[in-house]
Amino acid sequence: MGSVKLQIMTIRTRFAPSPTGFLHIGGLRTALFSWAYARRHGGVFVLRVEDTDLERSSSEAIAQILDGLSWAGLSHDEGPYFQTQRFDRYKEVIEAMLATGHAYRCYCTKGELDQMRAQQTAQGQKPRYDGRCRDLKEVRLGVTSVVRFKNPLDGAVVVDDVVHGKVVFQNVELDDLIIARSDGTPTYNFCVVVDDMDMKITHVIRGDDHLNNTPRQMNMLLALGCKAPVYAHLPMILGSDGAKLSKRHGAVSVLHYRDEGYLPEALLNYLVRLGWSHGDQEIFSLDEIVELFDIADVNKSASAFDGDKLAWLNQQHMIRAPAAQLVAPLRWHLARAGITVGSDSILEQIILVQRERAKTLKEMAANSVFFFKAPTAYDEKAVNKHVTSEILKSLADLAAALGRLPDWSAVPIHDCISSCAAARDITLGKLAQPVRLAVCGGSVSPPIDATLAILGREETFVRLRRAQEHWGGT
Ligand code: GLU
Repeated sequence: MGSVKLQIMTIRTRFAPSPTGFLHIGGLRTALFSWAYARRHGGVFVLRVEDTDLERSSSEAIAQILDGLSWAGLSHDEGPYFQTQRFDRYKEVIEAMLATGHAYRCYCTKGELDQMRAQQTAQGQKPRYDGRCRDLKEVRLGVTSVVRFKNPLDGAVVVDDVVHGKVVFQNVELDDLIIARSDGTPTYNFCVVVDDMDMKITHVIRGDDHLNNTPRQMNMLLALGCKAPVYAHLPMILGSDGAKLSKRHGAVSVLHYRDEGYLPEALLNYLVRLGWSHGDQEIFSLDEIVELFDIADVNKSASAFDGDKLAWLNQQHMIRAPAAQLVAPLRWHLARAGITVGSDSILEQIILVQRERAKTLKEMAANSVFFFKAPTAYDEKAVNKHVTSEILKSLADLAAALGRLPDWSAVPIHDCISSCAAARDITLGKLAQPVRLAVCGGSVSPPIDATLAILGREETFVRLRRAQEHWGGT
């Protein structure tokens, strides 16, 4: 009795950016969906850089794409492969296709092609290559040839797209694609086909601007004896006004979001919800995305970018994250604001008091600079409003009372301010506000007790004294 071999298919997805510009959120969403799908199925996520357009590709764009993916945490298992390093392989496949008759040399000159197109247009036909070199037996001397793929002449290609459903293309609509230019370099669609074949891609997840390339790519894969992968073409992300996403809407580099203080998990959470949902859940951890995301549930209509929602999600992720996890990014943002912080513990304390008050880490950093840098000026309007000669006396009492505190932490500090205020028959706020002005220069800070606790006894006194002197107290 023969044994039955069970072959379990390994899911292999890829992200294939062209480094002709930076990685923006549309590209990041494509990468996320491919990554999540591979992760969910224990598959392999391949990174491939489609850099054959030498004029428009740049090494800066490549570096920026790799940095963006790595910041987002979308780690690849294979690659990055670079198409420019695979030219020998493309050449080999072109030769093989010529040998098997799936491709042919076309000697038509530019003049002949122009004439062909003009005639077709005059007859009201769509201009297309008419296949006149398909069965040419001899070489045409003196004319450099291109290589064309012999597309089937009839029948239809059915793209059974996971997102769009069945999309049917008639072969008569597809002319014979040039796969090698006259200088021998391979063309874009052909490279994609060879790569998807060689890299054994099982699921092609990409933007729906590539849907029209798919029937040609499927025909070529078929000619190469390969089974076409599963295709999922993702709808576009539009601006909030329904127009194509532009810089104004957020079509900026992914690293711009890092610089603006967004957490990668918040950005990914935001992107996964564009066109996909799971009940009415809004907040997803990366683990939940991997566990729940299914490409089959992606909506085929375009979704609009909403910066307010992204900011809200970012704050939700900041609030939910273990404070220790936010230490490194907050330190990074503080460094950008000119503050170098050594201790983790002070940053954790700051995070705990600030995260309900900031939508981004950049904002949190800006609001927290005062912990490390004494104010050099005081908000004049607030001083005029809150600092009176009466208050200066209370402030002196308070400073003395704080000086007697055995334990410098939020609760005793709070009790101390509160009893000083009560003794002077004023509200806690009336006394807290000048203290706040003294330690941070403005009238906004986390609760004053927590603020002073984090600032430390010494620094609090230095700042209180300086403010008292400045405002004319003793
Ligand atoms: N390189 C293409 C792009 O950046 C993607 C091609 C593909 O995924 O097949 O739009």
